[in-house]
Amino acid sequence: MDFELTDEQKMLRGVVRRFVNEKLIPLEKEYLLEKKVDRRLRTRPQILGAERFNRLQQEAKKIGLWALWLPEEYGGAGLGYMEYLIVTEELKKTFMWFEFGGDAPHVLLNRGKHLLESYVLPCVRGEKKYQPVFAQTEPNAGADPAAMETTAKWDGKNWILSGTKIFVGEAEDVDFMLFPAVTDKSKGVHGITLFVVDRQTADCPGYKVSRHIETIADDWTLCELSLDDCPVPPENVVGEVGEGFIVAQKFLVVYGRLHHGGWQLGAAGRCLQMAAQHAKSRVTFGKPLAERQAIQWMLADSAVDLHCTRWIAYHCAWKADKGEDVRLESAMVKLHADEMAFRVIDRAVQIHGALGLTKETDLHRFYLTARMLRVAGGPMEIMRMVIARSVLQGELPTI
Ligand SMILES: Cc1cc2nc3c(=O)[nH]c(=O)nc-3n(C[C@H](O)[C@H](O)[C@H](O)COP(=O)(O)OP(=O)(O)OC[C@H]3O[C@@H](n4cnc5c(N)ncnc54)[C@H](O)[C@@H]3O)c2cc1C
Repeated sequence: MDFELTDEQKMLRGVVRRFVNEKLIPLEKEYLLEKKVDRRLRTRPQILGAERFNRLQQEAKKIGLWALWLPEEYGGAGLGYMEYLIVTEELKKTFMWFEFGGDAPHVLLNRGKHLLESYVLPCVRGEKKYQPVFAQTEPNAGADPAAMETTAKWDGKNWILSGTKIFVGEAEDVDFMLFPAVTDKSKGVHGITLFVVDRQTADCPGYKVSRHIETIADDWTLCELSLDDCPVPPENVVGEVGEGFIVAQKFLVVYGRLHHGGWQLGAAGRCLQMAAQHAKSRVTFGKPLAERQAIQWMLADSAVDLHCTRWIAYHCAWKADKGEDVRLESAMVKLHADEMAFRVIDRAVQIHGALGLTKETDLHRFYLTARMLRVAGGPMEIMRMVIARSVLQGELPTI
């Protein structure tokens, strides 16, 4: 058994870490001092400043941080799930929203020339913007996405989409997004098809961001989208008609859940570091907090929590890179990571006392995001449901 990262993986981690330390973390102060996000700024690039966001993406591109997840044959870096985890962890050590550019969703690969040439390659060339936007949730289909009601009806030329999607992040600042819709209600999950909805062609009267939904986190506004007889050409079907639910779930299971693993390792790791620093410098009753057993135990529990998440996440990525089915492991990663981060960040807040509850430190940002992530991408109960189903079938992860 080898627990060592390769030299390339360590180098990648170093490059991303340096980028985050030098380019993103220094921006936090400015953001914290402004105290409140201008609520007219709906998307994350707008919050960082569109011009600055683009400039940072270009600077990252110069050091090779571009189209990281796409295969080399399309101009990507061809990195795997392990690298995905490593990069996500480093990026999420700051609460400044930033993504490296040039990527397109993996579900569009090997799905024919049209999707490759119209969406994947323009993303790599920087001509089209893709943030991981997946418009699945509906007013009556959240934790149970198979209950979706958005329909796609064939009119002989196009698929005509009608329905409402809700709680979708980043829906405004993208050129295209992924949309599942029901093409044959009688077939249940085998009657759901995945479409690429192109913002440029969908900028018809039938498509609109019908509502901005503010959340407890100032910088994370969600959208309600309505589609009213919105035409989508047949070339924009991802995979086969009727296989969209399966395609979408595979994509979400690996990328979505592993993303939570990396995200929470980064966020909780940074908060633990802040807690340790504060414990060493804050003196009460004549002694630094760090010398109190109560505080040491909180730090120790957080370190163990983080370490456990790290190993289940890395194990899951390792298996995914071997092409193995990781539905069970990835549910464990999301469950453990999201609950772990909430505990670790909450302890960090406690160690900071009142300061931890103010907007003078970064902690509130991490805290609110960690709370959001326990619902986003599938609530904890659904992860437990998936895991319990496997346990009842006698399946447990093996090494
Ligand atoms: C920050 C954030 C970002 C998001 N981004 C996106 C996005 O980009 N695209 C998108 O499509 N969606 C997005 N969502 C929506 C998210 O996927 C849904 O909120 C989530 O799937 C749960 O759906 P719901 O909120 O409708 O909860 P409901 O389905 O109403 O469930 C409510 C609660 O009931 C419990 N519950 C539900 N079913 C069961 C069960 N079978 N057993 C036990 N308990 C259960 C859970 O505790 C759950 O939290 C986002 C949500 C958040 C918070």
